[in-house]
Amino acid sequence: MYNTSLRCIALLLSLLSIPAQATQSPIAIVIHGGAGTIEKSKFSPEKEQAYRAKLQEAVEAGYAVLNKGGSSLDAVTTAIKILEDSPYFNAGKGAVYTHDEAHELDASIMFGKTREAGAVAGVKHIENPIDLARLVMEKSVHVMLSGDGAEAFAKAQGMPIVDNKMFDTEHRYKALQRAKRKMEHAKQQNKDYQAAHKSLETAYKVGTVGAVALDKLGNISAGTSTGGMTNKRYGRIGDSPVIGAGTFADNASCAVSATGHGEYFIRYNVAADICARVQYQGQTIEQAGNAVIHDVLKPVGGTGGVIIVDTKGNMSMPFNTKGMYRASKSSSQATRVAIFKQD
Ligand code: ASP
Repeated sequence: MYNTSLRCIALLLSLLSIPAQATQSPIAIVIHGGAGTIEKSKFSPEKEQAYRAKLQEAVEAGYAVLNKGGSSLDAVTTAIKILEDSPYFNAGKGAVYTHDEAHELDASIMFGKTREAGAVAGVKHIENPIDLARLVMEKSVHVMLSGDGAEAFAKAQGMPIVDNKMFDTEHRYKALQRAKRKMEHAKQQNKDYQAAHKSLETAYKVGTVGAVALDKLGNISAGTSTGGMTNKRYGRIGDSPVIGAGTFADNASCAVSATGHGEYFIRYNVAADICARVQYQGQTIEQAGNAVIHDVLKPVGGTGGVIIVDTKGNMSMPFNTKGMYRASKSSSQATRVAIFKQD
């Protein structure tokens, strides 16, 4: 009798442990705040600490969403909005200036379960472009909206329209003046606009924020948001809002958010190429990311990096620049925040 009761209790306990195991599905989030000429010598200890704290805040906030059972889409948007609201990163509040001394913002988001996606390009009056990209995905029949039309859609959806000046920051304005001086100097040496632009250092061409995440249901998502390139003109749009170039997510392979010299990321279809290698060649995300960033992009002069997650919770963050602001956390890895190559 006593033994039977014990067996019943054991059976009951093992039954009770089934839901506990089911909730042990892996969760993971990786974020980036842009890649580029990021060297320790350019940081005071206070500045470095401030950047690390903001990255930590964003990754923890995204992780908390996942931990509560929230979707990877919500985790990605939560983390990206924190980085957009910070003046440190080239997106939202910290966006760089265009040639005409304004700010034009690009963003995109993709859901790996359904391959639904939304993107906005060249918006000037949207505080959090990642929110608008998500609205495009969820409330429109389109994937990408641009400029005034995107803002009219935002208004129709009840999203507030803000003054472009809210994205003004002194350090970005100074960077614009420096970029203009350098291009003027190049023109005086008989370089045309294209050649002068080419002579600008990488620092003027990069900076973006992004996130990729895996939720408890096994769905992955990716999102990216940027102010683009300092001194950009003629309505230049980079890779960040281009699905397949700057952002891609498919449960069959991986989720990727990119940062770097956008023109290369578009031409080499970077995010989708990484996921194709995973899906069709059976590469790990680490192998596929390294191959594209180091073996494909670097030899042709494409600077930048990516963050990647797959449905098993593997995470990878390859880059071919001096540094990349980045942070990660998963159910099997404690929070990690890094900036420099040797971090
Ligand atoms: N990829 C962005 C662009 O070209 C910039 C960056 O990520 O650094 O607009």
